[in-house]
Amino acid sequence: MGLQDIRNLSLEELVQYVRSVDENPYRATQVFEWLYKRGAGRFEAMENLPLGLRERLKKNWALSNPVVVSQAVSHDGTIKFLFELNDKERVETVLIPAASRKTVCVSTQAGCKFGCRFCASGIGGWRRDLSCAEILGQILHVKNITPGGLLSHIVFMGTGEPLDNYDNLLKVIRILNAPQGLHIAARRITISTCGLIPKIKQLAQEGLQLELAISLHGSNQETRTVLMPVNKKYPLDDLVRACRDYIRATKRQITFEYILIKDLTCTPRAAAELGQLLKGMLCKVNLIPYNKVEEFLYEPPSRRDIMTFQERLKALGVHATVRMPRGRDVAAACGQLRHSASF
Ligand code: SAH
Repeated sequence: MGLQDIRNLSLEELVQYVRSVDENPYRATQVFEWLYKRGAGRFEAMENLPLGLRERLKKNWALSNPVVVSQAVSHDGTIKFLFELNDKERVETVLIPAASRKTVCVSTQAGCKFGCRFCASGIGGWRRDLSCAEILGQILHVKNITPGGLLSHIVFMGTGEPLDNYDNLLKVIRILNAPQGLHIAARRITISTCGLIPKIKQLAQEGLQLELAISLHGSNQETRTVLMPVNKKYPLDDLVRACRDYIRATKRQITFEYILIKDLTCTPRAAAELGQLLKGMLCKVNLIPYNKVEEFLYEPPSRRDIMTFQERLKALGVHATVRMPRGRDVAAACGQLRHSASF
């Protein structure tokens, strides 16, 4: 078996390790800062560590960086990266720059189990969970190539289902949060889920001020099941109840993502159902016009139908914004990320 990657350790675990080799615990903080604040990709670069410790680290731990196989820049400035991992699995990551923020959209699994009928990520099936180190590796690579090294927001909306890789996800989030780590506040980190109810309940107990986004997409049990097979296991009404409980427990607003598909989800009836479902809830709705994926037959609605849908929701007291696609020309928009992409 190869060595474990050092980026799979929390700060506490790193302290334990440093103690176990009879070094002063503050060395753990130094290593952590090298890894995350300064984005060091090699132990040799950790100059203020004693040579002996650097050598020991190298003997005990791997420090591997995902390799960029290709990258594509959209005309709107969005950059899509295709990374290859040690076992040749491939994942995509997207940097979405805007005037006031730099957002990285991160993958949490190679492939996806959930097979939503509009999403490219599920087409090749599920391959495996990504390790904590592999998730952080994506973020650190993007940070290192970003001028000033400042990333403001992280969204777990790439390939895979973040809550299906729960332990690694939470470990990553704590490293992102840590002042000695990347120091990105939980409020700037979004987890998007297809609706794994037990994990939503667990997340509510973590005491983190995260942004939670729920991929809703269907306004009734039948439509949601057609679009998202996971809705058979975790039905819509139970999901919405779990969301209400989550809001009560965390005092945080939830975002519902709702894909707009011509004649299916973008109808007057759907707007009325959605309004009823979300009535009185501390939430907002992100309307995502369907991005075309070749394998599926759906079509996006017209601009006018999109606006009408938004107006109807507004009239029902539901705050909704339309999310304009970014990076569509390089297949980096929502739902276009694939497990084994070629550019
Ligand atoms: N598994 C998580 C994370 C993926 S996030 C989840 O389901 O939330 C990706 C977001 O893009 C989700 O809201 C997803 O439903 C949406 N999406 C997927 N395919 C899309 C498509 N073709 N067009 C627009 N949005 C899509």
